Amino acid sequence: MSFFIREDPLTAERRIIASVRSRRPHIIREITEEEPFQCPFCAGNEALTPKELFVVNGPSGWLVRVVPNKFPAIPNMHDVVVDSPNHEDDIDRIEHLDKLLWTYKERMVHYYNQDGVKYVAVFRNRGVSAGASIPHPHSQVLATPFYPSRFLKEKERYERESTDLLGNFLRKELELQERVVSVSKNFVVLMAYAPITPYELWIVPKEATSSLVFENKFEELAQVLKDSVSLLKSFLGENLSYNITFQSAPPWDRDYRYYIRILPRVAVFGGFELETENVIVSVAPEEAVIELRTVKYAKSTE
Ligand SMILES: [Zn+2]
Repeated sequence: MSFFIREDPLTAERRIIASVRSRRPHIIREITEEEPFQCPFCAGNEALTPKELFVVNGPSGWLVRVVPNKFPAIPNMHDVVVDSPNHEDDIDRIEHLDKLLWTYKERMVHYYNQDGVKYVAVFRNRGVSAGASIPHPHSQVLATPFYPSRFLKEKERYERESTDLLGNFLRKELELQERVVSVSKNFVVLMAYAPITPYELWIVPKEATSSLVFENKFEELAQVLKDSVSLLKSFLGENLSYNITFQSAPPWDRDYRYYIRILPRVAVFGGFELETENVIVSVAPEEAVIELRTVKYAKSTE
């Protein structure tokens, strides 16, 4: 058993890593019995959703559709992005993933041009444990009239230390090589140093870019994202529930570095987490990265 108390490199929130080898979370695999229903997001069922706000077309019909959320958290500020016309798709199988990432950027720009918008959250829930109520692959864009707590905590530390916090952390991680999963031309994939879920991955751009709004390497980023999700699934199971979040600054704040988190939902929060707002994670990131490297090696030699 290994035990550490770690601080999130950006927010300084404390997490408890209590790695128990005999109780690996990956043995928890989610089996969901899907009720037969008419899927509102499948191609051909467009009339079941509100009128679309934005669409990306391919040679034989739409590839990505953005519609207003029928149950918005904030009225007129909450999109549902239908990631693909294909019900069975997931991030690692969506061929037009670069266009989906570009759609996120377009919707962010749209909301940041509205009066009163402070922050635009882009996220993706997959599977019941991750909060997805419809199995068809979809994402959400939600504009808020306030800065969210995590971003405020990060910004406070960016300002106090007046330095590129995530850039410095990235350099250190690249030197140490203890949690690096992969490195491409412009992106690094890391096992999170102080994760809030077991196997939490971070995708960090090598060049300081404050927001997804300023990103333009969508083809490469799509490949990195696909490979990362595919790697997690080959280890944690094809039916894995997970969230993806796109942690970006508003376009007027360039003193930040955006990053993407992939959060496998293989554990649930209990009373300790609710009482303290500190999280206990049962897999040490250094062990997790060794496990994933082994899978990657096996896959590459298949
Ligand atoms: Zn569907």
